[in-house]
Amino acid sequence: YRGLAGRSTNEVLQLYAAHGQQMKLQRSSVITQLHGAIKKRLKQDLKSLRSFAVEISKDFQRQSKTCLYQILAAVQGIQLQNEAMQMFQIKAFDLEQSLQEVTERYEKEKQKRKALHNNLIELRGNIRVHCRIRPLLPFDNAAGHSVSQDRQRNFSEKAAYAADDETVLVKCSRPGHASVNKTFQFERVYNDLESQDAVFADVAPLLTSLLDGYNVCIMAYGQTGSGKTYTMLGPQFEENLAFSIEEESELGIIPRATQEVFRLISEKPPGSYWVEVSVVEVYNNEIFDLLAKDSYGKVFGMKRDVVTTREGKSDVPLLTHVTVENASEFLHLVNKGLQLRVTHPTLVHAHSSRSHLVVTLTITTVVFGDNFGTLWEDEQTSQRQNKEASCTFPHRMRDNISTSSSRASSPVQLEAAEKMKQVKTRLQLVDLAGSECVGMSGVTGAALRETSFINRSLSALADVLGAIAEQRAHVPYRNSKLTHLLQDSVGGDAKLLVMLCISPGQKYLTESMQSLGFGTRARQVQRGQGKKKNFPVPSKGK
Ligand code: ADP
Ligand code: MG
Repeated sequence: YRGLAGRSTNEVLQLYAAHGQQMKLQRSSVITQLHGAIKKRLKQDLKSLRSFAVEISKDFQRQSKTCLYQILAAVQGIQLQNEAMQMFQIKAFDLEQSLQEVTERYEKEKQKRKALHNNLIELRGNIRVHCRIRPLLPFDNAAGHSVSQDRQRNFSEKAAYAADDETVLVKCSRPGHASVNKTFQFERVYNDLESQDAVFADVAPLLTSLLDGYNVCIMAYGQTGSGKTYTMLGPQFEENLAFSIEEESELGIIPRATQEVFRLISEKPPGSYWVEVSVVEVYNNEIFDLLAKDSYGKVFGMKRDVVTTREGKSDVPLLTHVTVENASEFLHLVNKGLQLRVTHPTLVHAHSSRSHLVVTLTITTVVFGDNFGTLWEDEQTSQRQNKEASCTFPHRMRDNISTSSSRASSPVQLEAAEKMKQVKTRLQLVDLAGSECVGMSGVTGAALRETSFINRSLSALADVLGAIAEQRAHVPYRNSKLTHLLQDSVGGDAKLLVMLCISPGQKYLTESMQSLGFGTRARQVQRGQGKKKNFPVPSKGK
C-alpha cells in the first residue's frame, strides 16, 4: 500500500486487479491440489472398497456353494431313504399279501382236513373219543396218603399233557417205578387251558345230526375228580350238587347242548318238534327216576326198570318225561333232579359221584301222513319207526297233540292229527361214575359195594363197545342196567362221543392210564356207516 502512494487511480486499479488475479491463481492452484489429493484418496478408498466387496461376494459364493452342496446331499439322502422306504413298503405289502394267501390256503386246508376227518369218523363207525386234561388244582396237592414230602412233591407234578390237539402224552419217571413215556391219539385232545366253549364247539355238530335223525350219546368217562361233572354240567355248588346256571361261560355240555337243540328247533317250522326230558341215576345197578314226584308233588328218586321192547329197543316203563319249552326250563328241572343224587365222599374228592347220571332229551318230530310218499325215502322204515314211536309213548303224545294249545291247536293240524306220524330221536347225556380202582379211593363196606357195582357197569360198557367192535351177533347190553339204558344211543346207527376226563397229576397216573386205555379201545370200535333215520327233508318241489 506504500507503493500505491502517488499513483494514479488507474494504476491503482490495475495493480489491484493484478493482485486479485494473482490471489485467484494462488487459490485455484490450492483447490486443484486439494482436489487432486481428495480424488486420489477417493480412488484409493473406492479401490479398497471394491476389493472388499469382491472378497465378500467371493466368500458369499463360496459359502453358498457349500450350503448348496450340503442341501443337495441332504436331499439326495432323503431321496435314497424314501426309495428304500418305498421298497420296504412294497416288500411289506407283498409279504402281507402272501401271508394272507397262506392263511387263506391254511384255512381252506384246515376245513378240508376237518371234512375229511369227519368222513373218516363216519367211516370208522360214528364213534369218537375226545380227551380233556383238566388243570392242576389246589386239591391235587392235598395229601391223600401218608407219603413223604419228597414223594408228595412228585405227586403234584404233571404226568399227562396235551402234546397237540390230537395227542396225549403221558410222561413220568418216579424213583422206584418203571418210567412211562406213552402217547395216545384221539379225535380231539383239550389242554388244561381250553374253555367250556372250545369243548362244546366240537360237540355242537352232533346236535345237528340229532335233528337229522340220529340218536346221539355223549358220555364223560374218568376217575372221580377228573372233571366229568364240570365238563358235562359245569361247576357245582358244594352243598346240593346242583350246578351254577348263572355263570354262562362256565356251563358244561348238558346245558349248552339243550340251548343248541332249542336253537336248532327254532329254525324249524313251529309245532313240528317236541322236547321231553328225563333224568335218571344208575346207582348200584338200579335205575332211579329223578323227576318222579310223590303224591304231594315232591320229587323223589323212584326206582324203575329197563326193558327191551318187541322192536328190540330199550325202554323204561313209567319213567317220568317232562315236556320242556326252552333251555332254562330244562336247567331248573335238571337241577332239581340233581339234588337227589346219591354221593359218597371218598378220599379222592369230597363230592365223589358214585352213580351214573343219564339226562335224556327225547325229540319228537311230527310228520304229516300226506307227505309220506314224497318225503320219506323208505316207507317201511318210517312205518317201523312210527309204530315204535307210538308203542313207546302213545298216551303222552296224544295228550300233547290234543291238549297243548301252543303247539297243535290250529284246525288244520287237528284235522291232520289222524295222519300224523311221529319220529323220536334221543340225546343221552351221561356223567359216568368215577372209574378209579378201589385201592385208590380207600373205600370199604357199603362204599366198596358201590365201587364194585361201578366197576361192573363200566366193564359192561367196555364189553359192549368191544362186542360192537368185533361185530359180534350178540352184544351184551343187558349185562348191566347202564348199558341196557344206553343201548339205542350206543349201538346201531347212533353217534357216540366219549369224553375222557384226565387228572394231570402224577398221583393219578394209574387211573389216567386206565382211562386212556378205555378210550383207545373204544376208538377201535368199527361199525357200518351210520344210516340215518329217513327223515323228511324240507321238500324242494312243494
Ligand atoms: P368229577 O365229576 O370227574 O368227579 P369234577 O367235575 O367234580 O370231577 O371236578 C373236580 C374239580 O375240578 C371241581 O372242583 C371242578 O370245578 C374242577 N375242574 C374240573 N375240570 C376243570 C377245568 N377244566 N377247569 C377248571 N376246573 C376244573
Ligand atoms: Mg362228578
